[in-house]
Amino acid sequence: MKSHREYLWFNTDKRMEIVNITEQVREVIKQSKIQEGLCLVNAMHITASVFINDAESGLHQDFKDWLEELAPHEPVSQYRHNTFEDNADAHLKRQVMGREVVVAITEGELDFGPWEQIFYGEFDGKRDKRVLVKVMGE
Ligand code: ZN
Repeated sequence: MKSHREYLWFNTDKRMEIVNITEQVREVIKQSKIQEGLCLVNAMHITASVFINDAESGLHQDFKDWLEELAPHEPVSQYRHNTFEDNADAHLKRQVMGREVVVAITEGELDFGPWEQIFYGEFDGKRDKRVLVKVMGE
């Protein structure tokens, strides 16, 4: 069995951002030369997510509005976590949107449903953060 690992780096302009990383993941799979296997993509930070959904900007705004309603950033004093930090809301948002995705690789390609795309969800941005891509198979 072969395995291949790479990091994707992000430093978003905004505190909360959704970034389509499908092409970057495809590129890692291509480099791995793995034809049949699995691809794990996970955020390496506890205030960011990796998830699969539709590449539709209205939906992305819906996600942001919904998350902000569930766990508003302000006032930061409402959270017990925010004694030395101000990112409690980002931890909660990440928990809702998930840590990772696993996608099957078939004939060297991501074996997606019709509208599936992979996204990086940033909830405490403006600093360097990593995503792990690990490809395993034959
Ligand atoms: Zn924190």
